[in-house]
Amino acid sequence: MRIGVPQEAAANERRVALTPDVAGRLKKSGFEVMIERGAGTAAFFPDEAYTAAGAAVSDRNSVLQSDIMVQVQAPVPAEVPRYREGGAVVASFQPGGDPALVRQLAQHRLTAFSLVLLPRITRAQPMDVLSSQATVAGYKAVLLAASAIGKLFPMLVTAAGTLPAARVLILGAGVAGLQAIATARRLGAIVFAFDVRPAVKEQVQSLGASFLEMAIDEHAETAGGYAKELSEETHRKELAFLAGAVKDADIVIATAAIPGKKAPVLITAAAVQGMKPGSVIVDLAAETGGNCELTQAGAEIVRNGVAILGPLNLASTVPLHASQMYAKNVSAFLAHIVQDGRLRLDFEDQIIRETCVTHAGEVRKS
Ligand code: NAD
Repeated sequence: MRIGVPQEAAANERRVALTPDVAGRLKKSGFEVMIERGAGTAAFFPDEAYTAAGAAVSDRNSVLQSDIMVQVQAPVPAEVPRYREGGAVVASFQPGGDPALVRQLAQHRLTAFSLVLLPRITRAQPMDVLSSQATVAGYKAVLLAASAIGKLFPMLVTAAGTLPAARVLILGAGVAGLQAIATARRLGAIVFAFDVRPAVKEQVQSLGASFLEMAIDEHAETAGGYAKELSEETHRKELAFLAGAVKDADIVIATAAIPGKKAPVLITAAAVQGMKPGSVIVDLAAETGGNCELTQAGAEIVRNGVAILGPLNLASTVPLHASQMYAKNVSAFLAHIVQDGRLRLDFEDQIIRETCVTHAGEVRKS
């Protein structure tokens, strides 16, 4: 059974779905692996490293004809007919984001899996691309803020005077938020965090940050551990509470999300007006609408002296480690779906059922 790894088609995508190390391990476990020439270059993995690991390096047409294509982003619609009819593809995409593409994958009888649909259950953790890539994004968000702000993070006592530590506020303490807390602390900032799920308070404190408490009368967490959308009244209370909190912050890293929904607005335009000039907001929710009312996806704007960054695909800007973790996730997933050299499509299995987007000509997730 041959695994194919294409060069990612999107201009802002520097990751590659398999690293030489993981390709070598797959080869040892009985797969053939074929990489498109140059596919790993932007992530600093040269073709020679793949060849040394036992993978074949070839042109795009040959790679696309593999039994299982593994990639970071979804196939490009124009290229779907070039994939092996009846083959499989493993990628990371929201099927609802492009229904026409999903229909096309089904028509070409591809068995397509999306790793962003994995259930957040313990046995799926080694395959969890949302967590691995959010870890990278949370870390990088703090570095973006650190280079945009006109201050140093740590408190410094010098002959030229004493500098107070920067105050960083993290909104949403999920995987990205917790990594942002840890990174900001390592740089010496005083860190505060807020989340609607009270369960995260201890995790926030164990990383050396203070948890901002707001009395919430409703249960804001689903049985699966995710946040729920708040009632209008609680959301209004939250906006007022956060308008006060952001006034004291030098940096706000916003990571709040609700699976499958638009991101909640947590910082209004009026709240931005109350912030100090020179402050920085990094809005990791830019892709799904933004946690700040003023965020522009993919852009950096300044309002009343406050810089608002809405970066997209941050994980791709740390391509080596992001690819390394992604490749490990993919290989754990392959071990789950392939048995004795054949695709194991047991739809009783929660992992297979929830990640399979198309199979046997049918759309299963839209
Ligand atoms: P996410 O990206 O869906 O959301 C980020 C954070 O935003 C969450 O902490 C959420 O509570 C918060 N949030 C949502 N609405 C908010 C609001 N109005 N105000 C403030 N904060 C708000 O979350 P995630 O990082 O994907 O993690 C979600 C959960 O899944 C966490 O409990 C995490 O520990 C858990 N998880 C479990 C596994 C597993 O395998 N068991 C793996 C990964 C994550």
